[in-house]
Formats: sequence, C-alpha cells, structure tokens
Amino acid sequence: MSDWYTTFANSGVGSSLVKQLGLPRPAVLRRYEPGQPLLPGPAVVGTAGEGRLGGTLAAVLRDAGVTVPAGNDGGERPAAVLLDATGLTGPGQLAGAHAFLAPAVERLRPTGRVLVLADPPAAADSPAQAAARQALEGLVRSVAKELRAGSTANLVVVPEGAEASAGSAVRFFLSGRSAYVDGQVLTVSAADVPADEDPVRPLQGKVAVVTGAARGIGAAIARVVARDGAHVVAVDVPAAGESLAAVANEVRGTAFQLDVTAPDAAGRLVSHLRGRHGGVDVVVHNAGITRDKLLVNMDAARWDSVMAVNLQAQLDLTRALLDADGLLRPGGRVVAVSSQSGIAGNRGQTNYAASKAGVIGMVRAWAPEFAARGATINAVAPGFIVTEMTARMPFGAREVGARINSLQQGGLPVDVAETIAWLSSPTAAGVNGQVVRVCGQSVLGA
Ligand code: NAD
Repeated sequence: MSDWYTTFANSGVGSSLVKQLGLPRPAVLRRYEPGQPLLPGPAVVGTAGEGRLGGTLAAVLRDAGVTVPAGNDGGERPAAVLLDATGLTGPGQLAGAHAFLAPAVERLRPTGRVLVLADPPAAADSPAQAAARQALEGLVRSVAKELRAGSTANLVVVPEGAEASAGSAVRFFLSGRSAYVDGQVLTVSAADVPADEDPVRPLQGKVAVVTGAARGIGAAIARVVARDGAHVVAVDVPAAGESLAAVANEVRGTAFQLDVTAPDAAGRLVSHLRGRHGGVDVVVHNAGITRDKLLVNMDAARWDSVMAVNLQAQLDLTRALLDADGLLRPGGRVVAVSSQSGIAGNRGQTNYAASKAGVIGMVRAWAPEFAARGATINAVAPGFIVTEMTARMPFGAREVGARINSLQQGGLPVDVAETIAWLSSPTAAGVNGQVVRVCGQSVLGA
C-alpha cells in the first residue's frame, strides 16, 4: 500500500497538474536501503555555546565516510546541518545558533537533515540557562515546519555523562531510517553502549517477537527486523493464520498463532520462546485494534476489547517476560506501539487513546527496571500511516489526516518499522523510556 497522492504529485502529469492547482507537492522521502551511505552528501557542523559533543559528531561522520567541509559558504550543498548547542549559559548565545543555522539551512539539499544536540533544561544551573536550553526546542520544531523537500529537523538531548549514547541517535536521525520522524525531541541517557555493531545487520543472531505481524505495520516490522538480521517469531490471532504464515515464511522466521489477550497467552509465549529459542532479545508489542464510538455511545464491549489488546496484553506479556528467569537476554529490547491519538486524543477514540496513552505511561514507569537489567523499553507513536486500518477511514478524513503534517504525506509502515528496528539495535542502549513519534511532525498533539 502506498500514498497515492505523493506518487501522483511526483509523476509527470501529476506534477504539472498539482503545480497549476497550487496543491502541495509532497516530496519523495529518502528512505533507508541496506548498504547506502549514511548521507548522500557532506555535513556542516557548528557550535553554539561551549559544545561537549564535537568529538562524538566527528566520530560518527568519520566512521560513516561523510565529508565535513571547513566552511559553509560554497562547494557542495550540505545533506545535513548539525549544531552542537551543548554548554549554553544563557539566551544570548542563541544568536550563535541562529547565525550558524540560517545560512546552512538555506543551502540544505532536498531530503536533508537538521540535527541539534542540547543539554536537558531540567538540569540547568539557572533559569537563564534552562531558558536557553528550552528555547532550542522551539527553534528546532519551527525549523522543521519551515523545511521543504522532505527535509527534517530534530533535537537530541544529551545529559552530561550520556555522551556515549548520543552516537546511535545521531546516526538514526541522519539516516533514511528516520525519514518520517520530524520535529521531535529525544533524550538519551547514560548506558553501556557497545563499541560498534554491524551497520548492515545490527540484529544478527537476535530473536525478535513481533505481535500483530500478519499484516500492516506488524508485517513491515517483521520484514525490517529480519532484514537487520533477527530471527522473527511472528505472532497473530489464529484467524489471521494464513497471512501470518506467509509473512513468517517470507522473512524465514516462525509463525506462532496466539491471541495476546487469551488468559494463557503469556504462559504459552514464554514456554514457546524457552523451548524453541532458549530466550528472546527483542519484543515488539504491535498488535492493536480500534473500536471507535463517541464516549456517550461507547458500550463496555468496545471499551474492554480495545483495553485488553492495546494495553493489558502489553503489560501482561512484558511482566511474564521479566519474571521468566533469564528469558529476556542481556541487552533485551521491548518496543511498544502507541499512537499519536494517545498524545493528542481523537474524537471517537476515548478507548483507543486511553489505551495508547497508557502504553506511554507503561514504558516510562518500566524504564528504570529495564535499565537496571541492561535492557531498554520504549514506545513508538505513529501518526497517520497508510495501512488497512487507515484505509477504512472515510475519504475526506483520510486525505486530510494524511496531509496535516510538515512532510504533507502519510507515513508508510516501513517508517514505523525502521524506528522500531533502530530502538531494538545494540547501540541504542542509551535510549530508554522514550516515546518516538513517527508522524512527519503532525499538527496534532505536537
Ligand atoms: P492492522 O489492523 O492492519 O493490524 C493489526 C494486527 O494485529 C492484525 O494482524 C491483527 O490480527 C492483530 N491483532 C489484533 N488483535 C490481536 C490479538 N488479540 N492477538 C494477536 N494479534 C492481534 O493495524 P496497523 O495499522 O498495522 O496497526 C498496527 C499498530 O500500530 C496498532 O497497535 C495500531 O494501533 C498502531 N497504529 C497504527 C496507526 C496507523 O495509522 N495505521 C497509527 C497509530 C498507531
């Protein structure tokens, strides 16, 4: 399934028609392909404030073979603009951020990346310092709204002591894996980050469970984590058995028919993983349903079924994995699929939005326990993603839903999958308790 409007607006006839009618022309995004360079051109790097992360940025760019020209006033247009804004003492230094970014962003190539690194406002020494740090959030979110041609801008917050965790996030945001992640703020934390990982198959040798894998986003997750090297245990309800088997075969994984809400679901999954694989490295809670009605018309069955699949099953399966001695291997990763509705709310979705907001509460609360085990738990909140779930929406709502974001298009299942695969990778050890929105900077719940 693809975004028909983006395809149309970029076709020969479509492109001139769209231009004549003054309609938006969404760009074809730069999406990840194994083996492709991190960036399709050079990167320019600047600082505002003292800047603690110059070494980290230089290492990422050097390892990826990205050239960093000395100046920013000629030569090849940059594919990325990186600003190390750590060490700001007050708002006065923001002028330096503006002075660096304005000319650099003007020269940014299509599908470019703007990435700012900053200190956490909450750890500032003074209100002026906190103000300067927080100001960067407004700056980055606004740059993201101004960028065109499929370019994105994001902010990575790096507390002191967490420098080693920043590299993985920087690579993600520069790469095509983050094509539909725009205008977001991600905070990394100190962790034992492996020195390196196989850039093409970072999940080699890992066992990854993906629930709701028979179709849509779950099938895309299965494909992407398998492409990255994992053996996939594809889980879905028995009624979806045929398509589940097809996905499992395609990714050379195994199909495991399981209703995640069944009373014995956690026990069956634990014994399956123990018996067949000895353990598990990655668990992606993707299975989800909608049963929309306005609150006043919402019957208990709609409320209960959505809560059971979208939230209670994630809690129960995660608890069982943690309690099953040694089952979740060191470096374990849990990624829970939330939703933009869980952040912004959505008319007709009190049950769904409550369940998806609950998922965010769950990962935040569990993060310290996971960190203590050398593991991580994070949530991914998709915005408008082109799937069978969104295909069922009325035409008008669907077309508006797909366009009201800075990239003017719906995301693809692969965009959610790439973010999940990154969070599952060994060097993402310092990303824990986070919610990564994959929404093209949707105007909803920004
Ligand atoms: P989908 O309906 O296409 O696929 C969901 C899959 O989950 C199906 O294969 C279904 O059989 C399975 N499933 C449902 N109940 C199950 C159960 N009890 N046990 C095991 N499997 C079960 O949906 P999708 O669009 O691919 O969405 C995947 C996830 O992403 C969901 O959690 C959804 O809430 C979330 N999401 C989707 C969007 C979007 O725009 N499509 C946006 C935000 C969040």
